[in-house]
Amino acid sequence: MFRPYFFLILTLFYCFSAQAQQPKKPTSSEIYQAIEKLNFLGSVLYLAAHPDDENTRLISHMANAVKARTAYLSLTRGDGGQNLIGPELRELLGVIRTQELVAARKIDGGEQLFTRANDFGYSKHPDETLAIWNKNEVLSDVVWAIRKFQPDVIINRFDHRSPGTTHGHHTSSAMLSVEAFDMAADKTKFPNQLKSVDVWQPRREFFNTSWWFYGSKEKFDAADKTNQFAIDVGAFYPALGLSNPEIAALSRSSHKSQGFGNTGTRGNDFEYLELIKGDLPKDKNNIFEGIDTSWNRVKDGKPIGDLLHKIQESYDFTNPSGSIPKLVEAYRLIQNLESSHWKTIKSEDLKNIIAACAGLYLEVAAESNTATPNSTIKLNLEAINRSPQKMTLTSIVLSGGTMVKENTDLKFNESHRFNSPLNIPSDASCSSPYWLNSKGTLGMYRVDDQRLNGLPETPKTITATFNVLINGEILSYSRPVIYKINDPVKGEYYKPFEIVPEVAAHISEPVIIFADEESKDIQVVVKAYRNNLDGFVQLAHPRGWEIYPEKQNVNILHKGEEQTLIFKVTPPKDQSEGLMTPMVHIGKEVYTKKLVEINYGHIPFQLVLLPSESKVVRLNIHKKGENIGYIEGAGDVVPESLRQIGYHVAIIKPEDINAETLSRFDAIVLGIRAYNTVDALKFKQKLLFDFVEQGGNLIVQYNTTGGMVVDELAPYPLELSRDRVTDENAEVTLLNTNSALLNYPNKITLNDFDGWVQERGLYFPDKWSKEFTPVLSMHDQGESPKKGSLLVAKYGKGHYIYTGLSFFREFPEGVAGAYRLFANMLSIGKETINSNQSLKN
Ligand SMILES: [Zn+2]
Repeated sequence: MFRPYFFLILTLFYCFSAQAQQPKKPTSSEIYQAIEKLNFLGSVLYLAAHPDDENTRLISHMANAVKARTAYLSLTRGDGGQNLIGPELRELLGVIRTQELVAARKIDGGEQLFTRANDFGYSKHPDETLAIWNKNEVLSDVVWAIRKFQPDVIINRFDHRSPGTTHGHHTSSAMLSVEAFDMAADKTKFPNQLKSVDVWQPRREFFNTSWWFYGSKEKFDAADKTNQFAIDVGAFYPALGLSNPEIAALSRSSHKSQGFGNTGTRGNDFEYLELIKGDLPKDKNNIFEGIDTSWNRVKDGKPIGDLLHKIQESYDFTNPSGSIPKLVEAYRLIQNLESSHWKTIKSEDLKNIIAACAGLYLEVAAESNTATPNSTIKLNLEAINRSPQKMTLTSIVLSGGTMVKENTDLKFNESHRFNSPLNIPSDASCSSPYWLNSKGTLGMYRVDDQRLNGLPETPKTITATFNVLINGEILSYSRPVIYKINDPVKGEYYKPFEIVPEVAAHISEPVIIFADEESKDIQVVVKAYRNNLDGFVQLAHPRGWEIYPEKQNVNILHKGEEQTLIFKVTPPKDQSEGLMTPMVHIGKEVYTKKLVEINYGHIPFQLVLLPSESKVVRLNIHKKGENIGYIEGAGDVVPESLRQIGYHVAIIKPEDINAETLSRFDAIVLGIRAYNTVDALKFKQKLLFDFVEQGGNLIVQYNTTGGMVVDELAPYPLELSRDRVTDENAEVTLLNTNSALLNYPNKITLNDFDGWVQERGLYFPDKWSKEFTPVLSMHDQGESPKKGSLLVAKYGKGHYIYTGLSFFREFPEGVAGAYRLFANMLSIGKETINSNQSLKN
C-alpha cells in the first residue's frame, strides 16, 4: 500500500512577484490570511479541459474570500495550443503551459491538478474527443482527483448538455465531471484506487454559466433561472491591497504563451452558477450551505477551532511570532487526532504558518543546477530564525539519510550556514516531467506510477529536511535542493536542481528534408553533464540511408561543454522517410536522449528529457521558380521549410513592400494570419494585386474571420468562413484533376494527403466568385463537403492562390505531400510550353 504525494505545492502563501521561482516570503498580513484559512474546512474543485479555460476570478474568490481549499483540474496540459512567446510546440508547449498554470495558482491561491488526457488538437464534438482520449482512463483520472482532493463542491467551466457547440474537449470535460460525481462514491468503480484513496461523495456540482453560453445578454436575462444564482466575486482584500478581480487578472496573465495578459478591475463582479447535481443552497451566498466547514467536521476537532479563533483574534500584525506558542499548541492538538484528510492538510499548513511567523528561513542550494546519478555534489545550507522565539535545529537530514548537523540553537536573527557533500545514488531517476517519460498515444500520456498521476510536476526527491524543536514540538521542514546565482541583470535568480544523464545529444534540425539525391552535412551536438566525458557517437538511421563516418569520437573535458560532430548523410534515390537518433556510447552505456532547455522568466527553468529523434525525409519533388518573398504573419516556420527544399526565401518587411521589391520575386507568400496581424497590409494590398496582375504569383495562407485589416482579401470576391477540417486523415477528393496545382511540376495524388498531422486546415472560404477554381474537397465526418481549402484564380498575367490548408503544421513534421503541393503552388504559371498536358488554373 502506498499513499499518494498529496502536498507538493504549498499554496498557503501566495506570491505576486514575477520571479515565480523564488521562495515565498509572506508578509504579516499574508500570514494573518493563512491563519484565517486554517479555520475553514471545505473545498472546491474547478474543472475544465485546458490551461487557460479556468475562471481565475472564481478560483481566487473561493481561495481568498471564502477561504476554501480550491483546485483547478485541467484535463489536459494544452499541448495543442499556439505559442506566442517561443518555438516550443506540442509536448514542450505542454510543459510551458503546465508551469503557467502552476504560476497562476501561486497567485490566486489555488492548487493545480491534471489527468493523463493529451490536448491533441481541435475537435468539433465530444464523440470525436472521447474516441481519441481513452474515455475510461480519463474518467478514472477525474474520479481519482475527486477521491484524492475530496471536494465538497465541483464547478464545471463548460456545459455537459451542449455537444457540438464548443471545442469537443470542453464539453467532454463537463460530461466526464458529471459522470465522475457519482462514481467517486461508488466503491465498485475503479476499485484499484481504493488501495490509496477512499471513496468520496461531493455534495454539489455546478456549471459556471454566463451570458456567453446563451449567445447574448438578452437571451441570458430571459432564461429560466430556477436552478441558477449569482455570486459577487468583486471583493477587495485590504490585507493584500488588491481586489479579487485584480488578483484574478494577475493570475490569468500567467498564460503568457497564449497571450492572455489581463487587466484587473475593481468593484462588484458577478459569476453565475447553475446547479447540475446535489441540492440547491437556500442561501445563495453560500455554496457550502449544509456542509460543516468548521473544525467540528473533524472528530474531536472543536477545541482546535476554538484555539485557532483565539489566535486569530489576538494576532499582532507587528509581531506575528507572538502567536507561535499557541500555534504550536494547536499543532500538538491536531497531531493527537485520528488520522484524516483534514488532519494531514492542516498540519502541513500550520507548520508553514509557524515558520512564517518566526521568519524562519531554511534553504539548501547546490553548486550547480544539475548532477548525474552516482556523483557527489556540494550543498550550501542556510538556517535562520528571525524572531525572539526560542528554537533548536535538532538535525538536518539529506535525502539518502546523511545527517548534516545536530542541535544548534537558532538564536534571534543569527545566521547559520553549513556545507555538506551529497551523494546522488546510482539509481536516482532523472527529474524530467513524469508524463513524458514513456511514449503515450495521440490522446493519452502514459503514467505507470499511480502516485504521480495527476500531479502538476515531478516531485523533487533530492531534499534536505530541517528538524526544528519549538516549544516542545519537533517540526520537520522538507526543502527541495535548489540552485541560485546572482545574475548581473536579474539579481537573485533561482533554478530547480535536476538529476540528468551524463550526456545528451541531438541533431541540430528536428526535420531534415532532402529534395534530391545530394548528401547533406548534419550536425550532432553532444553536451556533457559531467567532467571528462569520453566515448563515441553513431547515428541510428533508416534502411537505405548512408552515414559517413560510421562513428566519431567524443571527448569533452568540462561539464556543460558541447561538442559538435558533422556527419554526411546520403539519402536513397526514391522517396523515403524515417528517424535518426544519435547514440552516444560511454563505457558500457548507450545514451539516446536529448535534454531540452526551456528558459522564460515567468516560469521556472525547465529541463525536459526526450528521445533524441530527427525525421529525415527524401522527397521526390520538382520545382520551378527560385526566389520567394515572404511576408510574415503571426509566426510560422514556412520560410525555413522552403529553404530546406532549395528555395531562396527572403523575408519582406511590411514597410519594404513596393513594386520594385516585389518584382524581384517569382512568388510572394503571406505568413499565417498576416491580414489579422500586419496593419500595414491595409495600405499595401493594391501593390500585391498589381504584382499579380503583372505576372506574379501570390499565395495567401489562412486568416481568421475576426479582425482583418483589409476589406477585400483577394482581387475578386472571396469570403472566409469558420469551416475547418480537424481530422488530419479526412478523405480528400481531387475536384479538378486538370488543375496545374495537381499536375505541375509534381503529379499530386491522394497519397500526398497521407501522414498529415493535427488537422487538414481551417477558416476555409465558403463563398468565392467564378474566377476562382476550387481544387480540393474534404470534410470531417458527418459534415458537408468543404471545397474552399485551396482556391486559385488567374488575375491579369499572374495567379492568386488562397489556402486554408495547414502547411505551417505539416512542414515542421516533414509531411512529404504538403511540400509537393506547395512546390506546385509556387510553380504555377511557370509551365514549360512543351508540356504535353493541357493545364488549367
Ligand atoms: Zn479550452
